[in-house]
Amino acid sequence: MTFDLDLYRRSTDAVGLWLSDYFATLAQKPVRSSATPGQIKAQLPVSPPNTSVAFAQIMSQFDALAQQGLTHWNHPRFFAYFPCSTSPLALAAEQLAAAICQQGMLWQTSPLSTELEERMIEWMLELLGLDGQGFSGLISDTASTSTLSAVLMARERATGHKARKLGLAGLPTLRVYVSPEAHSSIKKAVWLAGLGERNVVEVPTGANDQLDLHALKSQIADDRAQGMVPAMIVGVAGGTSVGAFDDLTALGQIARDEHLYYHIDAAWAGVAAIVPEYRELFSGWELADSIVLNPHKWLMTGMMCSVFLVKDMGLLSQTMAIVPTYLQTLEHEQVSNFSELTPQLGRPFRSLKLWFVIQHYGAQGLAQILSDHVDWAVELCERLRGQPDIEIVTEPSLSLFSFALRSDELTLRLLKRINEDGRIYLTQTSYKGRDVIRFVAGSASCSRDDVQLAGDVIVELTQNLLSEN
Ligand code: PLP
Repeated sequence: MTFDLDLYRRSTDAVGLWLSDYFATLAQKPVRSSATPGQIKAQLPVSPPNTSVAFAQIMSQFDALAQQGLTHWNHPRFFAYFPCSTSPLALAAEQLAAAICQQGMLWQTSPLSTELEERMIEWMLELLGLDGQGFSGLISDTASTSTLSAVLMARERATGHKARKLGLAGLPTLRVYVSPEAHSSIKKAVWLAGLGERNVVEVPTGANDQLDLHALKSQIADDRAQGMVPAMIVGVAGGTSVGAFDDLTALGQIARDEHLYYHIDAAWAGVAAIVPEYRELFSGWELADSIVLNPHKWLMTGMMCSVFLVKDMGLLSQTMAIVPTYLQTLEHEQVSNFSELTPQLGRPFRSLKLWFVIQHYGAQGLAQILSDHVDWAVELCERLRGQPDIEIVTEPSLSLFSFALRSDELTLRLLKRINEDGRIYLTQTSYKGRDVIRFVAGSASCSRDDVQLAGDVIVELTQNLLSEN
């Protein structure tokens, strides 16, 4: 069957129109879907069709379900979790990448995808102020995959590659140190790597929600005394709950003194180092063996664009590479074959959207967008601080802060009302035993007006709630 050019043109035209309308009307839609569990599935046929369904019908089914089942991550007033939105040229690049169908597992299977990825890592290092620090890297799907790769590297280094060759049986217990502010993906990576959930040691935090360095040193010493092998420290640069930053320099020094692998999770915050004024926050991250940061969170590339920066690419290759005859190529010595550095073999063309986005905004444009988000969040925080019934619980860490009412019950009722109202979307976390509401700005289309409107909604609904109590 030949490629149906006519269908291709008609369908992409229709999708283009649908998307133009979607973006034009997005700000008027409720941010969060109000679908109830099972509502969407109930509208989908139980069995696949036997014969071809016309594109127009497929599209109209999609449209009907999209009206009900989408939570709008691109919405300008999406202030929940962490941002994950897209931008016009990221979309254009995604369309190109999908159409040209590059499978960049080897240099030979896509020289363009491979070499552009290499260059994009160099660009990112320069943008972040990390050039000349010995990093190279790759683009992976998610921070979870990059962190899993880091844990596997730490495991291989600590066991002299015995884990890969022999399995874990008979090897000493390896220990991984994190703060309670570390993301759950680190714990998950440790148990997926076969090291055991209980060997993720949560070292308590002290002032500023930073991992307590004395507690860390004494925990390492205790573990050694018990015959265990300290293998890895994971530093937090912008924790998910309230945006905590560890003392990255001190952790790096301890990792070096104790010969531990040092990984930093900067999945959300890392791209903020593009703004020279915020770079100080990341001071010490150059000491890391690896860092992960997600352009797909706050750099407007859309999903599945995570940058994994690594010092020892040889170690990564020894951890991941397997080259059966059917994957061997003649130019092996001169090129990167990225699939030898990742858990997956297949690799989509992710660098294209990063290239388009960085060129479109330029370093200054990106820095401006990021610092605007931070400034607007700080402005909102000050406005809420001035409200008698609202307490700012954690101060802004970049564009993230948290607030609460006088009891957990009221705080959670306020959050429910805010999200049912639909004009904005916020989520909760717990901080020092209290339920708090997080606010984080970062959607690509967010403006100062949107953040101010968030303030109006929060104040109005707080007053309504409290007037009933
Ligand atoms: N690390 C941090 C700090 C995060 O906030 C998140 C997700 O929000 C992750 C890691 C996991 O990211 P991903 O979905 O890319 O695996």
